[in-house]
Amino acid sequence: MKLVEHFEAGLDAPICLTWELTYACNLACVHCLSSSGRRDPRELTTAECRAVIEELERMQVFYVNVGGGEPTVRKDFWELVEYATSHHVGVKFSTNGSRITASRAEWLRGNDYVDVQISLDGATAEVNDRVRGAGSFATAVRAMEHLAGTGFKLSVVVTRENAGQLDAFKALADRYGAQLRLTRLRPSGRAVDVWDELHPTAAQQREVYAWLLAHGEEVLTGDSFFHLSAFGEALPGLNLCGAGRVVCLIDPVGDVYACPFAIHDAFLAGNVRAPGGFAGVWRESELFARLRSPQGGGACSSCTFFDSCRGGCMAAKFFTGLPLDGPDPECVLGHGEAALAVRERRPPKPRVDHSRVRACDESPVAGLA
Ligand code: SF4
Ligand code: SF4
Repeated sequence: MKLVEHFEAGLDAPICLTWELTYACNLACVHCLSSSGRRDPRELTTAECRAVIEELERMQVFYVNVGGGEPTVRKDFWELVEYATSHHVGVKFSTNGSRITASRAEWLRGNDYVDVQISLDGATAEVNDRVRGAGSFATAVRAMEHLAGTGFKLSVVVTRENAGQLDAFKALADRYGAQLRLTRLRPSGRAVDVWDELHPTAAQQREVYAWLLAHGEEVLTGDSFFHLSAFGEALPGLNLCGAGRVVCLIDPVGDVYACPFAIHDAFLAGNVRAPGGFAGVWRESELFARLRSPQGGGACSSCTFFDSCRGGCMAAKFFTGLPLDGPDPECVLGHGEAALAVRERRPPKPRVDHSRVRACDESPVAGLA
């Protein structure tokens, strides 16, 4: 059996587990995948988080991607990080940098099992702050200065606004000895409302593909651009939607979803507070069993590029109102655009929305060029 076939059938434990510790955030990025802002009062307690960590250790989950919201606003955040690493679960956490002080950076420098990702959406304050809010670029740069030389990651969601800045992002990462991580904008959370305006144009997709090919393994992508492999040569990675097979999300209230970009009832597999805990959900959920069963390619199965693109991203299709067995909305052959033009289903709203109301909320993209 090929490795990819093992992954398609699902594994005993996820290899890419995201755990969003809180919906609270001090920023209000227009494309936030989890519609974060306000803390959910049902958030898992410290004791419940510890129990989840102990379970991950028993399942031999070697690391967890921690996000939010802004995870560092949880009062017990650093305590939970230490608890995880002392239980053999490494932590990679994403942050806007606001709590990365010089002393915290020193602590991180000495900790091999904790990886930091600083999020940016522009290589300049002008581009970044339109998406992430005034002052957010300066905050991230201050954090990067503290973290210089620790081998942290600079994490960027590629949008129409910043697709022309990939070289500048690389230079910024190099300046601080960081590794650049580029990921795809999916229409999840608040991004449902801004995806039309923010997702890269067809011409930009081709440029991004060429750039990724030229930079190969030196830039991380979390395999998120596999739909671009249909341009020709496949990008490095598995080229597979891992939702419910090797990927899943635990949200701040313990709900388990097939993928961090699929926070919706349609992809809700269970809750870690249930008697079987996280392992019970991962191993016995009916939804995950369905996602791990052989999937037909639907309208994409006759495509020459099906083996590398496989119809693209399930969440991107779902949240743009397209059928799950059809082409990705950003299909490089243009089939997604054609399907969007005649779609019958309205794009669904995210399951939960913890956004805070902002002064500029008359338009979610107010201020964007
Ligand atoms: S739904 Fe999309 S983002 Fe989630 S695992 Fe599948 S391809 Fe990746
Ligand atoms: S038709 Fe389907 S498989 Fe082919 S490139 Fe488009 S999304 Fe990918």
